[in-house]
Amino acid sequence: MIIMMDQNASESDVDRVVDRIRAHGFQAHIHRGAETLAVGVIGDTRGIGVNGFRSMRGVLAVTPIMKPYKMASRKFRPEGTVVNVGGVEIGGEEIVVIAGPCAIESEEQLMAVAKEVKAAGAKILRGSAFKPRTSPYDFQGLGEEGLRMMRKVRQATGLLVETEVMDTRDVEMVAGYVDMLRVGARNMQNFDLLKEIGKTDKPVILKRGMSATIKELMLAAEYMMKEGNHNIVLCERGIRTFETATRSTLDIGAVPVLREETHLPVIVDPSHAAGNRNYVGALAKAAVAAGSDGLLIEVHHEPEKALCDGPQALLPAQFAELMQQLREISRAVGRKL
Ligand code: PEP
Ligand code: MN
Repeated sequence: MIIMMDQNASESDVDRVVDRIRAHGFQAHIHRGAETLAVGVIGDTRGIGVNGFRSMRGVLAVTPIMKPYKMASRKFRPEGTVVNVGGVEIGGEEIVVIAGPCAIESEEQLMAVAKEVKAAGAKILRGSAFKPRTSPYDFQGLGEEGLRMMRKVRQATGLLVETEVMDTRDVEMVAGYVDMLRVGARNMQNFDLLKEIGKTDKPVILKRGMSATIKELMLAAEYMMKEGNHNIVLCERGIRTFETATRSTLDIGAVPVLREETHLPVIVDPSHAAGNRNYVGALAKAAVAAGSDGLLIEVHHEPEKALCDGPQALLPAQFAELMQQLREISRAVGRKL
């Protein structure tokens, strides 16, 4: 951390800053340049806030130098993390495709979609029983009944399954039904939920909040890691911008940035970014080309009847065709699908 001070700050102002640095257990290094007076704070300063220093007399600016995240940082595990979901590895050579309906609507619906995505090469079935809907009048999901359907479909198809968990009180129950949990964009900064999931060892997809920075996403992962769960897969799903032609703006740049900044695997959800099935394929292909470790894609066999997100759901045949194209792109970037 560097504390820039007014060149004309009094000796006692500088002393007070230095005393405060020492009180935190750090060393202070004062550098007087021709036009600057900088105080360097030596040590791992991630735990101390900058605001206390900012408000001190004579201080102009405080710049943290170390990254605020520790365990999520690439430096923590330079070789990268592979998250094992029931034998399927996310973050290895293989691109892992997670696909299925937005919401679990019935056993028949889930089974029909599951068979299609499995045949096309998906390794994990997605489907939500708890839905974070913008309107309280929209379909809220089938709850635990939906999870029982998912368990049946898992047994019948052999697919691994993942689902969203929204409430701290449900974490244990939901984890008992599925191979992988998902934290939705709206809950990325539900810190109590993150901590509760952190206490389990279930693999979890952490979706980027629609207004969250990459740093905030990594800090959300840090919350879970701090509790002990390191089986985290980060998911870029589009952010809010001024553009309205797509539901969200897929931040494709987040993929290479995250790969550099963190050792955690990164996947992309092109469906919620696009909001329209016509654009899902292009975004999915761009994601794999950009270095994504996997994809989370919505598929529905009867999207016109879907209770949630029908317009962005791929039809099974479209999904199968996309998988073929993704295989070629994977090969071109040295990966397998
Ligand atoms: C979802 O994946 O089902 C979902 C609700 O997406 P998001 O949290 O990214 O909006
Ligand atoms: Mn959805």
